[in-house]
Amino acid sequence: MKVYNTLSRKKEDFQPLEEGKVKMYVCGPTVYNFIHIGNARPMIVFDTVRRYMEYKGYEVNYVSNFTDVDDKIIKKAVEEGVSAQEISSRYIEECKKDMADMNVKPATLHPLATQEIDGMLEMISTLIDKGFAYPAKDGTVYFRTRKFEEYGKLSHKNLDDLQAGHREIKVTGEEKEDALDFVLWKPKKEGEPYWESPWCQGRPGWHIECSVMAKKYLGEEIDIHAGGEDLIFPHHENEIAQSEACNGKIFSKYWLHNGFLNIDNKKMSKSLGNFFTVREISEKYDLQVLRFFMLSAHYRSPLNFSAELMEAAKSSLERIVNAAENLKHLKKNAKHEGMTAEEEEIWNGSGAFVEKFEKAMDDDFNTADAIASIFELVKYSNTRVNEETSVELLERLYNRLGQLCDILGIILEKNEEILDEEIENLIEERQAARKERNFARADEIRGILLNKGIVLEDTREGVKWKRA
Ligand code: AMP
Ligand code: ZN
Repeated sequence: MKVYNTLSRKKEDFQPLEEGKVKMYVCGPTVYNFIHIGNARPMIVFDTVRRYMEYKGYEVNYVSNFTDVDDKIIKKAVEEGVSAQEISSRYIEECKKDMADMNVKPATLHPLATQEIDGMLEMISTLIDKGFAYPAKDGTVYFRTRKFEEYGKLSHKNLDDLQAGHREIKVTGEEKEDALDFVLWKPKKEGEPYWESPWCQGRPGWHIECSVMAKKYLGEEIDIHAGGEDLIFPHHENEIAQSEACNGKIFSKYWLHNGFLNIDNKKMSKSLGNFFTVREISEKYDLQVLRFFMLSAHYRSPLNFSAELMEAAKSSLERIVNAAENLKHLKKNAKHEGMTAEEEEIWNGSGAFVEKFEKAMDDDFNTADAIASIFELVKYSNTRVNEETSVELLERLYNRLGQLCDILGIILEKNEEILDEEIENLIEERQAARKERNFARADEIRGILLNKGIVLEDTREGVKWKRA
């Protein structure tokens, strides 16, 4: 499997640090409003990366944070006259609803920045002890950027060019040693949430959160760190500087970044006001259509959002769902059970599309080509089945189509009634399978439930489930 690594600017062979396991961290949203469909792009594409890795047999530990302390959250709280915590917990819940509707699996863990302050204080202290950070008189703690010699290795920026860019900016009242130094901890302002620290009552800078949460839940060295390309600089560059200076180890082996979701060729963003929330789109479309639209382009390419492309995604998705419906319908009325020799050949022939699908996904998750191979399978199957086809072949083709769609997070069959008791039984069976390290069966069960619209969440208190 090849993945494009922003660090080397090349496609590299994917080799996990530990055989069979993938440790993956994806920067999550700042929760001060409903998420827009630009924010949904990394959620959908990296959920698909995760699903493909799981399909390949990896056990994926997928951590994605919520940034629940930030200027924008505080501003919104002041506007509404409520606490920052009320704002963040409200929008975390809303975000989780949107994720479930887009069939984005809950992360193995969704840590919250505000719950990890101790870890941040510890990392900042270590950085000070090692000479990589210093407190200024007002209690702000800065990272000493130039001391980290590899600074710029991810964004391929040169420190002197950066310095030149900064020269114009007047550093008023700050006690930075160098314009390039960035904030690890900052003093509170009147009315803001704050925590005690050795330097001042204050709150963490944004970058330190992710370094700390990745370390705590995945370890000092991880396989994949991902997010939108706007995070490459400064966020991810700063995360690397903090983590590697603190731990003395390479932080992440592979850095994956999705391209922007644009509107009229401009990045969709809250600040430009050119956005649609996922919730707005859900009033017009099943969010499966949004998911399908996102995956119809390569994740690193820019993608322009338009009504026409959404309509095209809708009809493409319908073609796949109709093919599946047809297989199911034929199966219900089928007269023969087992496959004939001729059908055996048809079945074997359909394997070529699975190979094509895998080849596309192995090439840096080329979902556009993977979808093309699903269409080929649909066409192949549509032209080879009829009232005479056996139950066995119909079932196999249906499952094959379902499996490929499931890797992309596309649900073929929605809202089929499943009783609470059946769900509980399947969850129990999945737990038993996991205990026996039969992850294939465990994932299969997760897939069966997902196909019925049941989303599982592995929490520290055990498995929770909900109807998507
Ligand atoms: P934020 O809440 O702004 O920190 O964004 C959360 C995630 O969404 C980050 O990974 C961003 O890179 C990503 N993101 C924000 N806007 C877009 C966009 N228009 N297209 C693609 N990704 C985006
Ligand atoms: Zn981050």
